Amino acid sequence: MPMVSMRQLLDEAAKGGYGVGAFNVNNMEQIQAIMEAARETKSPVIIQASRGARSYTNDRFLYHLMVAATEVYPEIPVALHQDHGNSPETCKSAIEMGFTSVMMDGSLMADGKTPSSFEYNVQVTKEVVELAHARGVTVEGELGCLGGIEDGHGADVDALAHLTDPDQAVEFVERTGIDALAVAIGTSHGAYKFSKKPTGEVLVMKRIEEIHKNLPTTHLVMHGSSSVPQELQDIINQYGGKMKPTFGVPVEEIQKGIQHGVRKINVDTDNRMAMTGAIRKVFIEKPEAFDPRDYLKPAREAMKKVVVARMIAFGQAGHAGDYQPMTMAEMAAKYKA
Ligand SMILES: [Zn+2]
Repeated sequence: MPMVSMRQLLDEAAKGGYGVGAFNVNNMEQIQAIMEAARETKSPVIIQASRGARSYTNDRFLYHLMVAATEVYPEIPVALHQDHGNSPETCKSAIEMGFTSVMMDGSLMADGKTPSSFEYNVQVTKEVVELAHARGVTVEGELGCLGGIEDGHGADVDALAHLTDPDQAVEFVERTGIDALAVAIGTSHGAYKFSKKPTGEVLVMKRIEEIHKNLPTTHLVMHGSSSVPQELQDIINQYGGKMKPTFGVPVEEIQKGIQHGVRKINVDTDNRMAMTGAIRKVFIEKPEAFDPRDYLKPAREAMKKVVVARMIAFGQAGHAGDYQPMTMAEMAAKYKA
């Protein structure tokens, strides 16, 4: 099947009471790892690319790899999503390239660093909703700011300084018409989220419950939701890496979020760590190896293992064949109505 609308994936997830992992990619092996995991677990899935990923793949490679994914895995509904679009122009270019979903992150200015005003955020997000929905493309917005900088994007703010305001969230969704809302609840992008296992003080899951109560039909998105598992840190460090001790978002906390309206969960760091650990292991154990496949195959396999585990934990496993995906034209007609 062709790439599908993210909105439909999330609507179906809401009906079924599960979440859908959104996994970042930069290359062929990562796309293959995700699609193999989706096939093995029969999962619908979201593949997403940051601005950095788009420039790394020169856009066209990414697009054609995704077309290949839909040909090789025709039974898997897969949406291609622009992660953290910094301006309406970025979102527009993604839509023109064939992305079926875009994030307009108007919580930051177009420099991708400076926290913006509410009015600016409403204005740029609404602009993207108008041009995206006319083509059947899904829009995710963000209110509040996450901590941490990744791929050159993000305000280096205290993760607790700009939590999403549940009342402002209602006004934001009403005025913009977005399909999904990314919320700030104390998490950060990247590996270094928490210095100890997070409590409700720093990972404010209660905020999700409050937002969901105000917006029961809006799909909520958790960013910065890698779990940064100890065993992956250990493999990296055992084979010569130098990761400092850190804690991510425990999978059981994400599962609580899914009970309160979270439908999209962004995961990148865990997959990066899985690949890096596997590559380091080969380099140490087989220093004579020099064929890239000698380390890229185990890297792909290690990432697939993480994605399979997340798909099962988020509940999307088993749902790939539940529904008939709509075309983008049908989605556009639906938005118009
Ligand atoms: Zn993010």
